[in-house]
Amino acid sequence: MSCSQSSHIVKSTCAYCGVGCGIDITVEDGKAIALVGTKEHPANYGKLCVKGTNLLATTDLTNRLLAPKINNQTVDWSTATNHVAEELSKIIKDHGPDSVAFYVSGQLLTEDYYLANKLMKGYIGSANIDTNSRLCMSSAVAAYKRSFGEDVVPCSYDDLDSTELLLITGSNAAWTHPVLFQRIERAKKGNAKMKIVVIDPRKTATSQIADYFLQIKPGTDAAFFNGLLYYLSQNDGLNSHYIEQHTQGFEQASLEASNWPVEEVSSYCDIDAKILESVYQLFAITEKVITFYSMGINQSNSGVDKCQSIINCHLATGKIAKEGCGPFSITGQPNAMGGREVGGLSNQLASHMDIENPEHRSSLQRFWQSPTMANKAGYKAVDLFDAIDEGKVKAVWIMATNPMVSLPDRAKIARALKKCELVVVSDCVDKNDTLDLADVKLPATPWLEKNGTVTNSERRISRQINAISPNGQAKHDWSIIAEVATAMGFSGFNYSNVSEVFREFSQLSGFENNGERIFDISALSSITLAQYDLLKPVQWPINGTYPEGKKRVYEDGEFSTPSGKAIFFPIIPRQPTQKTSDKYPFTLNSGRLRDQWHTMSRTGKASQLTAHTNKCYLYINPADAARLNIVNNEIVNITSSTGQATVHAKLDKNQRTNECFMPIHWNKQFASNANVSQLYASHADPVSGQPESKHGTVSLSKTEYTQFGQFHLSEEFVVQIQVRNEFWSKARTSYGLSCQFANTYFETDILNWCQMTSQISGEWMQLTQGNTSYVICLQEGKLVFLCYISENHPIIESAWLEYVFNQDNLLENDIQSLLSGTSNKEFARGKQICSCFNIGEKEIIDAIKLGCSSVETLGETLKCGTNCGSCKSELGALVNEHLVNKVEMISTLFIEESTLIERVI
Ligand code: SF4
Repeated sequence: MSCSQSSHIVKSTCAYCGVGCGIDITVEDGKAIALVGTKEHPANYGKLCVKGTNLLATTDLTNRLLAPKINNQTVDWSTATNHVAEELSKIIKDHGPDSVAFYVSGQLLTEDYYLANKLMKGYIGSANIDTNSRLCMSSAVAAYKRSFGEDVVPCSYDDLDSTELLLITGSNAAWTHPVLFQRIERAKKGNAKMKIVVIDPRKTATSQIADYFLQIKPGTDAAFFNGLLYYLSQNDGLNSHYIEQHTQGFEQASLEASNWPVEEVSSYCDIDAKILESVYQLFAITEKVITFYSMGINQSNSGVDKCQSIINCHLATGKIAKEGCGPFSITGQPNAMGGREVGGLSNQLASHMDIENPEHRSSLQRFWQSPTMANKAGYKAVDLFDAIDEGKVKAVWIMATNPMVSLPDRAKIARALKKCELVVVSDCVDKNDTLDLADVKLPATPWLEKNGTVTNSERRISRQINAISPNGQAKHDWSIIAEVATAMGFSGFNYSNVSEVFREFSQLSGFENNGERIFDISALSSITLAQYDLLKPVQWPINGTYPEGKKRVYEDGEFSTPSGKAIFFPIIPRQPTQKTSDKYPFTLNSGRLRDQWHTMSRTGKASQLTAHTNKCYLYINPADAARLNIVNNEIVNITSSTGQATVHAKLDKNQRTNECFMPIHWNKQFASNANVSQLYASHADPVSGQPESKHGTVSLSKTEYTQFGQFHLSEEFVVQIQVRNEFWSKARTSYGLSCQFANTYFETDILNWCQMTSQISGEWMQLTQGNTSYVICLQEGKLVFLCYISENHPIIESAWLEYVFNQDNLLENDIQSLLSGTSNKEFARGKQICSCFNIGEKEIIDAIKLGCSSVETLGETLKCGTNCGSCKSELGALVNEHLVNKVEMISTLFIEESTLIERVI
């Protein structure tokens, strides 16, 4: 991109997932005006997915918290800082250090995270600091730690390019880590021998790439990998030399695995025995194997054991710590890994030191020269909110996360926060479900204004740099923490800029380390501010031996355990804690959608990102829906032992029967009652404390709504709208806002209702036919409000809405069409598939029927999939489904007696 003289490029990192894509932001006259992927960044080589591409559309100032507030009254920073410091000090004095807690986030930068830990563990003297990463990957951390002796991911993204067999399990990477998934697609295209196995209870976009797709019964993954270990032991698949030289505990793990012959696994996991055996054989005979896993494995009552069962197979075959090999846990958040480095979890110390280890505690206290040091693990996330609920913890400081939406058992979290004497929330937004319960709101800088470092899933540290100055009175999190610490009377928090925090953390990583811990970035201990600003993405360790970082670790077979050997653990697969019953017969799975992130406080602002899925759905198998007399798009109740939600149903044959799926994103800011976490009970893995968020149990029932409607309004009236219907769900659009609603009563004075709801004055028109009403409002010929109300769900083409709202002077024909609910057929595009070029499902199907037989030819014809590529797997699915003259699509076909399979179209 060329730049004018007043513009410059800021090299930063994406705010969303753990892929950690580099972003070049063009800044002109103090404003960020464009962005592209950084061509030379090793995480993405210039690629960005749809979320990263649209980051700038999420950075406006609507709903920004721009000044500190106490009890919703704006105050200056000094008042806010002193208030928080005094209240925390008073509670600590009266009730001890464990009566206060921090709940932080993988959205924080490493420097923020480091100082929050330093304040809590070294100065307050408690380990009551935990992070939302507990919900994401703490099971993977615990398994790496107990097996390798240290929380170290042994793989790199480069390994995905050269592997020959990739097992993707518990991950819909096509949607959750799109740029990495596209790298996998390219690797497969470039290597005809590469095989991919996708293991998931849902047939997701990721399964499109699979040679083998195993639709496993939820919760049974450990049995699958135990079965693999046993198969390897029986079929000459072990690497005895590696086991002997570099591991311990194999015999016990192998003995336990011997309970899982193929037939047993087949029945337990509900996978065809022949396919299972074929996959096991592929693992055995393929030299380079990676198992790629994420939250589908981690979010379980036995997440650590599931991760361990994967690690066991890689250790047993020596397919680890060498090119194209290894157990590769992929992190969800942009800086989950940075949190792991600084000891962000309540059972860790900074720089991979152990809280149970007295030498580590005293070394850390010596380095910090701090007045105290926590000497036992603090509360893990679920336990922390239990402790608040029980009154043991009386003050909590929540940073950059929204536990009301993300933690299980929302009712309990709400009760706990309401009881808590002091709830401080640092965030960049003014309103969310958690901020509604805050006593003190502290305005933190968001992406684009933040400055520091993040670490991605492959241990690569990158700079996230502020492209613009902080808006309003927003401050960086590290600075807010340092000021509160200083106001509490602590020295040791006097930093003049963020590079000093990073420098101190780098020094700590080498302090009294003596090669004991692989996490060592001490080569950066003397980094200057100028060097920090120019720091290139680099993988740790970064020390005297590896000053340029290191791609792969443990290559010499020397692990971080006291013996130097990696440890096998015997795994006894456990059933999920939340079991289905007559009362709650459905298993509830949850996860991310392609174009949304976490609780939508950013992505919910961008119409480019809401168009793909504009409301929360419950995905259920058509057979289950038929049994319950539920039709597509009907609003249904979902009830569990802890809560109840109400969302639209989406019939989806990719769901197994008796199972359903709901996205994690929706909350009270976007819908009346669509928060999935309220449906999960607070059951967690006993080792990692990670909640069982993939296996709730629910019942489904029809709702009693009698009147349905939707209204749409133009941009200038979005802020004034107050939705008060019994059921509602709203989404940003290119013209303003859309809202779907339903009520159990029947509104008859529709025009008056529209006027009261919208508070808009203008030229109102209404047409009622039977129980269906159409209402519009024009201002100087321009459409500003539109409402359809009926006994049935009205359907309006989004392309038609974009057209009518964009007209400066609506033609008489268009007004007649609006008032009769009939749009021109040319606007029938269906569900949006390609966000970059706004291409709908119907256009794509038409193009396929006219001869586009591949994702590539669709791209040549419609451009869909040719920018960020996030929709390519959905395009592939549409090609498979609608290609005329296709030979039947068979996902797995055995060729003679061999184990090889091919996809046939
Ligand atoms: Fe951001 Fe997408 Fe890259 Fe993840 S894959 S870091 S969301 S651009």
